[in-house]
Amino acid sequence: MTANDTFTICVLPGDGIGVEVMAPCLAVLEAAARRVGGFGLVFDERPAGALFYRDTGVALPKATLDVAARADAILLGAMGWPDIRYEDGTEISPQIDLRMEFGLYAGVRPVRSLAGMAPVLADPRGRALDFVVIRESTEGLFASRGKGSVVDDRQAFDTMMITRDVCERLFDFSFGLARQRKAQGGKGVVTCVDKANVFASFAFFRKVFDERAALFPDIRADHAYIDATALNLVRRPWELDVLVTENMFGDILSDLGAGLMGGMGFAPSADIGDRQAVFQPCHGTAPDIAGQDKANPTAMFLSAAMMLEWLGVKHDNEAATRAGGLIRAAVGRVFAEGASSFETGGRDGTSALSRKVLDALKTAEPVAR
Ligand code: ATP
Repeated sequence: MTANDTFTICVLPGDGIGVEVMAPCLAVLEAAARRVGGFGLVFDERPAGALFYRDTGVALPKATLDVAARADAILLGAMGWPDIRYEDGTEISPQIDLRMEFGLYAGVRPVRSLAGMAPVLADPRGRALDFVVIRESTEGLFASRGKGSVVDDRQAFDTMMITRDVCERLFDFSFGLARQRKAQGGKGVVTCVDKANVFASFAFFRKVFDERAALFPDIRADHAYIDATALNLVRRPWELDVLVTENMFGDILSDLGAGLMGGMGFAPSADIGDRQAVFQPCHGTAPDIAGQDKANPTAMFLSAAMMLEWLGVKHDNEAATRAGGLIRAAVGRVFAEGASSFETGGRDGTSALSRKVLDALKTAEPVAR
């Protein structure tokens, strides 16, 4: 093993159930790395989040940011707490600061059914979903975060920002992902989801999409409006492949996608930029269930699997990719064999599900990405 095969992971557990799902996740990562061999992991755990802000007045300290910048990847639990807010009333969300700081424009939110789960949709085709929402994560309506204005008690404004630079990289990433999925039997379609019929900013978004689509002739470029897409996510999600959309729309669509998988605790994500990436479950800190061993750690485990697969490709380390596939296989097996999370009315809490996944890791065989 060379020095390059030891990956330093900046670990940010955060708040609430973020902390509860991170602890078993590190054990899962260690077990997967040990079983596969061929690479090593060093965890550098750092503070950030709402409780840290309450205690220190800082949500994302510079020391944490420096470690995150130097790390090979960032693994995040969840951050924020309803009662702890900035003076303007907004929630503490360093996860958004990280996206802006490191230019993590591609928010990858896979929607994949797990065998053995109670179906969410009546149509049997809804049991084998496999599509990806790519949420632009640095601009769009979120560019207005901290900059909106409440003019008086009758009017407030926020501004949407779409730039060519970010769009080009976002669309290239999306077409690249569709190409990769096509090589593994995917549909080879990227759908640009917008509201180009109403807003100039979205007409521009679509124009840049069409320009970049021309560079990927092997991939079909499609368009859909956000409202129709919301409908189709429920009516026929099995027809989808890669959806790319603006930040706010992606925020909403990815929660809808999580619902199709059974709930927020099943939805992993990666926020990817040209140099750095953050891997975290789509869910928040869930104050309603925090401290009760009820959090479903699946999304955290699957986010860690995405991290290993990303590291594997980036550093040409096949072992890391295999370890990611091993975690996904172990999670898949556990649910196929009847595990059930509290989130879906089942009986397995965080510790029980974690134990089952750790056990499955001993004998599961890695699945391909
Ligand atoms: P945010 O506002 O940042 O999205 P949140 O915790 O208020 O955070 P969600 O993460 O969207 O909201 O979660 C909504 C609800 O889904 C939670 O209140 C909780 O009941 C449930 N939930 C979320 N994550 C999990 C999980 N990992 N396991 C079980 N239930 C979860």
